[in-house]
Amino acid sequence: MTDLNIYCDEVIRPNSNGIILLGALFIKEIDMIKVVNYLENRRCLNTSNHKWSYTYDTCPNNKSCKKALHDKNNTKIHFSEIDRHRERKIISQKWLTSLKVILKENIKFSILAIDLNKLDCAHFGRNKTDLNIYNRFFRTLLKGGVRYLYSKEKVKIKTIYHDEGSQNKHIYFPELNMKKLELETFNDINIENKKIVFLNDDHRIYLENNEMESVRHSQFIQLIDIILGSFSQLLFNLSVKEEKKEVAEVMRDVFESIFDRKWEYSHSISFFPKYSLDELAKMNQYALSDFNEKKIEDKIDIALKYPDNFYNKNELAMPKYVKNQNKLTAWF
Ligand SMILES: [Zn+2]
Repeated sequence: MTDLNIYCDEVIRPNSNGIILLGALFIKEIDMIKVVNYLENRRCLNTSNHKWSYTYDTCPNNKSCKKALHDKNNTKIHFSEIDRHRERKIISQKWLTSLKVILKENIKFSILAIDLNKLDCAHFGRNKTDLNIYNRFFRTLLKGGVRYLYSKEKVKIKTIYHDEGSQNKHIYFPELNMKKLELETFNDINIENKKIVFLNDDHRIYLENNEMESVRHSQFIQLIDIILGSFSQLLFNLSVKEEKKEVAEVMRDVFESIFDRKWEYSHSISFFPKYSLDELAKMNQYALSDFNEKKIEDKIDIALKYPDNFYNKNELAMPKYVKNQNKLTAWF
């Protein structure tokens, strides 16, 4: 039996274009200590000995470290604010590089990109219907991720952690949703804690009360944030900020190899749906009137079950970013 912890985050309408990106990070319970230690130790930029403690007083690099420097390394890693902080950018790059190399086998992720325009969800995020739809996609994300990434293993999900900043205020995940997930998989996937744990992505608030478990779990909420941030930056070429481009660029070959179904990185990215609800109705003309009368939740349910309605190939809109490009072109 494989025990897994899962860390989730989402990006809603990154380009005001009607896309939701849902992301989940999967880490085996037996790898937790190794992985969190590794990421934490990449935080110290003051020396290269790769040791870390969250407080300056206990910093193993005390001799060469200063409180101001130490505090800068103890920053919240968050993609949207990467350009405001040199340390954030460098730690993000180190983390994403670790994900590609040293921690390649220990951290898996799954991304689900939902095109709301094709689903008649123009005002997504405002009412009970949307909540049901979101919960449905959330199950699809977890189910798809576990089945694809751990196809040869019998999996038990221990705890699911979710970024507190986003969904819990306006969308409440009921425990029922996770029970539904177990039923949908015929108990193929078991979930130990059906109540999702909401965590702040700023671990420093837990540090004040010495809640070290939360401090450490929060690191993974930060990691999935920069994975999703890099993905939306590359996919839509959202920001002109050099720091964001530089960090996102680290992940280019990972995303491209997933699109091309090269198995170098075994993560999963799915886009949904291939067919809009209108197209779906037309393709099944015999049931058109039936289909059109259905509730939006039921239409989406049909769309989710429709064969080949997910796809995993897409183009990255952001052109390849080469650092110091300006200086280089100045020679010509
Ligand atoms: Zn220090």
